[in-house]
Amino acid sequence: ISILAIESSCDETSASIILNGKVLNNIVATQSVHEKYGGVVPELASRAHQENLIPVIQEAISSSGISKDQLSAVAFTRGPGLMGALLVGVSFAKAFARSLNIPLIDVNHMQAHVLAHFIDEPKPGFPFLCLTVSGGHTQLVLVRDHLDMEVIGQTQDDAVGEAFDKTAKLLGLPYPGGPLIDRYAKEGNSKAFAFPVTRMPGLDYSFSGIKTAVLYFLRDQLAQDPDFIEKNLADLCASIQYTLIEMLLIKLKEAVKQTGVKEIAIAGGVSANSGLRAALEELSKKRGWKLFVPKFEYCTDNAAMIAMAAHYKYLKGEFVGLDVTPLAKMKF
Ligand code: ATP
Ligand code: MG
Ligand code: FE
Repeated sequence: ISILAIESSCDETSASIILNGKVLNNIVATQSVHEKYGGVVPELASRAHQENLIPVIQEAISSSGISKDQLSAVAFTRGPGLMGALLVGVSFAKAFARSLNIPLIDVNHMQAHVLAHFIDEPKPGFPFLCLTVSGGHTQLVLVRDHLDMEVIGQTQDDAVGEAFDKTAKLLGLPYPGGPLIDRYAKEGNSKAFAFPVTRMPGLDYSFSGIKTAVLYFLRDQLAQDPDFIEKNLADLCASIQYTLIEMLLIKLKEAVKQTGVKEIAIAGGVSANSGLRAALEELSKKRGWKLFVPKFEYCTDNAAMIAMAAHYKYLKGEFVGLDVTPLAKMKF
């Protein structure tokens, strides 16, 4: 079984080839056009996908050693994501599958983030809990099988990645600010400033409060000292990051208590955060959890995880017709 997988849900254009469940490559073109706008501009993302998609796919195919006539199926991200961005990948996948007369497989991007854990060893055993933390989502997922997952908690407003990026913007940092907060936080004191920890009922999250809290805090401080941010950047980053991690961990601990599941995985772009990784490692040691952290290139958006999901769907014969449409919002 050899599958070509395509990812185009946001601002990464990516293609990957998987052979009998083994990912052969993962070609990613990251769009830099969005940096100067402080966030992803949907229209520009679509155009960049249109430009990058064919070269990225060509590289994936040529470096795999598999010719296109040997492909068993074509897979694509159906959603969730930006509609215009998804359309580019979906349309190409349909035309390519039709021209080769092979089946088409639709993949849920969030399910694929979880399945990134099956690309390399060690793989988690079922059931496990996955904390998926990205730019658009924050989900606690109970994973019973490769394609049997349930969202048991999620954010009711902003995603945690969004909270990182928006507070970074308030500090004057460029987009995406998450990795920069991570970097400055290493030299700062996480207890220097206290920001409120928002508590939602059940296993749900809320991350919109912190940007307002930081906004008002900075406004008051800057009124007294215009250089406040500059002087306290590391402490501010450390304190914001600490608060966001606290909020993530409170619900994760609760989820472990509720489900009794102690195999814990993290996925999505924010799982690259070194503070989150360190806190989880410490917590896992203390509580006897088994922790799974994917390789960095499989944390952020990539087609390898789409390929992994497609492999399991191929085994179950889950194909879609040429009338399939992308879904900006897509549940699993
Ligand atoms: P989704 O998967 O929900 O559609 P997305 O694909 O945009 O959203 P990812 O590419 O998985 O999200 O992750 C991007 C997010 O990860 C951004 O918000 C970015 O700031 C954040 N991020 C990346 N590295 C770090 C880090 N080291 N610390 C904190 N945040 C980080
Ligand atoms: Mg992205
Ligand atoms: Fe993503």
